[in-house]
Amino acid sequence: MNSRTASPTRLYPNLTVVGPEHAGYDEARRAWNLQADLRPAAVVSARDEREVAEAVHLARHHDLKLVPFTTGHLATALPDLSHAVLLRLDFDHAVEVDPAARRARIPAGALWEDVVDAVAPHGLAVAHGSSPDVGAIGYLLGGGLSFYSRRHGVAANAVTAIELVDAAGEHRRVDADSDPDLFWALRGGGGSFGVVTAVEIELLPYPEVFAGAAFWPIADAARVLPEWLAWTREAPGSVTTSMRLLRLPPVPEVPEPLRAVPVLCVDGVALEEADGRAMVERLRAVAEPMIDGWERLPSAAVLRVHGDPEHPVPGCSEHALLGELDEEAVEVFLDVAGEGAECPLLFAELRQLGGALATAPTGSGSRGHLVGRFAMFAIGCPMAPGDEGAIDAALAELMTRLAPWDTGRRYLNFAENDGEARRGFDPATFARLRRVRAAHDPGELFLAAHTVPAEPVREAEASVVA
Ligand SMILES: Cc1cc2nc3c(=O)[nH]c(=O)nc-3n(C[C@H](O)[C@H](O)[C@H](O)COP(=O)(O)OP(=O)(O)OC[C@H]3O[C@@H](n4cnc5c(N)ncnc54)[C@H](O)[C@@H]3O)c2cc1C
Repeated sequence: MNSRTASPTRLYPNLTVVGPEHAGYDEARRAWNLQADLRPAAVVSARDEREVAEAVHLARHHDLKLVPFTTGHLATALPDLSHAVLLRLDFDHAVEVDPAARRARIPAGALWEDVVDAVAPHGLAVAHGSSPDVGAIGYLLGGGLSFYSRRHGVAANAVTAIELVDAAGEHRRVDADSDPDLFWALRGGGGSFGVVTAVEIELLPYPEVFAGAAFWPIADAARVLPEWLAWTREAPGSVTTSMRLLRLPPVPEVPEPLRAVPVLCVDGVALEEADGRAMVERLRAVAEPMIDGWERLPSAAVLRVHGDPEHPVPGCSEHALLGELDEEAVEVFLDVAGEGAECPLLFAELRQLGGALATAPTGSGSRGHLVGRFAMFAIGCPMAPGDEGAIDAALAELMTRLAPWDTGRRYLNFAENDGEARRGFDPATFARLRRVRAAHDPGELFLAAHTVPAEPVREAEASVVA
């Protein structure tokens, strides 16, 4: 920071400011995705709205950008931060639940595990993602793809109000009546519009669900994958699944039969047990799974069905929203990650879309639906020198060969290696997001993974956006 300005610690008495010259800088700038090497001008942590407002004033005073940051799951999508203050949201407020109204108020900093722990004792569920330690607010600002999505749509559709500190440092509560444009933009447009300090969300009435994961030896993938795809074409909206060609590492957290053994996994949630059982039976008829873990479970257990890592890891990934997949697409998946492939990826995944995800309901936000039939996500975790090159090559091959089925659009929560916001939206939606940004943060104080720029869109530009 500029040494000629007043000391931040005197001007902003509640904030601890950590700069590159401080011993704690490396710890303070560390992101959940260890591949991200963030080098902000300074890091501050805020414990409440007042401290967030101080951080806004501090960044403005030093002519720096401000980056809202919860866990760093999406940190690889952040741009250069050399002129930015990284704002860690370290609120330790409790998640508040109103069981009668079936609503929760989620404070900044809360992880999905915190939210599920608060709502589950009331026999309620929430449309969380596949990982317990993803930040709930970061996920909701991007839309939120859950195992409840094909019945209930993106999770942001359930958000009823958002509290934020805006670019002027004012703390406000925004809902569909108080500020419809900003409320629309926040529900999908990400962290470009303010620092969100709390979100109110409707909960789901599911104390239990039929859910789990089934695993097949990779040798059966050539039969199970086409059958799963055939099932997805007529699947009921009560079931949401994911299919992964998966290579888990030989570590104690992984159950013995799955350690370092390539497998195909189908996991998810069925809100009608009969629909879930029918899906599992159909796949079982093609090939007997080595593990069938689909069963009736408390909905809190859905948080760990996908088995995502619950500690920081390095990850290099690729993502695309794909259309309907045919036999040739199956071949691509099997060539890159199937039996016999020297595959350096942890997994190549297809998350099932469609159902309620296909159409934006009335009154939804800027991410009210998702185009395509599948969200493809593939990732490798470089652990040793040389891993990264092999992983990047496999990801590039997958993306190149899947081009015929690529819709060209991206679901930005999954776009970890591309900070461009434009591909997340159709041109009209993106233009509206930019107008809302220009109205609320014309000086572009906030910097986000997938920052929405504030400038107005010219007609000619809008017409060439894919
Ligand atoms: C293992 C794993 C599993 C995942 N599973 C799913 C899934 O099932 N479904 C799904 O939809 N997504 C999933 N994601 C993606 C995840 O939802 C996004 O990475 C999300 O942005 C993470 O939010 P975060 O706050 O934890 O991360 P961060 O990197 O801290 O935040 C991401 C961005 O969100 C914004 N942001 C975060 N907090 C605030 C705030 N309080 N105010 C303003 N802006 C804020 C910022 O712009 C920030 O750059 C997964 C990611 C991982 C790594």
